[in-house]
Amino acid sequence: MTHFFDSTERPPEVNDFHLLDNSPKIAQKLRNAGLRPTRQRTALAEILFRNEDRHVSAEMLFEEAKQANISISLATVYNTLNQFSDAGLLRTISIDSSRIYFDTKIGDHHHFFLEDSEELVDMPEGYIRVENLPPIPAGTDISRVDVIVRVCSPKK
Ligand SMILES: [Zn+2]
Repeated sequence: MTHFFDSTERPPEVNDFHLLDNSPKIAQKLRNAGLRPTRQRTALAEILFRNEDRHVSAEMLFEEAKQANISISLATVYNTLNQFSDAGLLRTISIDSSRIYFDTKIGDHHHFFLEDSEELVDMPEGYIRVENLPPIPAGTDISRVDVIVRVCSPKK
């Protein structure tokens, strides 16, 4: 993964900073995950982690960054999300090759995918039990089991 944006960051502008009340905490969170808290990473992390758990696509976060007057490209948002994911701050959930969501809740859990609204939501805990898994390939470990139940409007 490239880090091309580190050297091309523009100087901070006044209106970038209304978001950053939480910055020291967020910067520490990034450092703890082994990431240098660049201004862009910190700004995106602040949007991502400010509320309860959520599922965002790169496009969704890009729109939120725009609303918050953070000047950043979609490619940078995407790279940053992948870096957060590689560092264990987010979990990646692929619906298909064109739809990838980043989940701020990183513990094991399963999802509903609402096809009509393209929303990913957490399943209530305690329902899905994964049983009868076949023997796994020699020399491997299970890293995780994801269940995604896709739901849509009732077919008439
Ligand atoms: Zn989730």
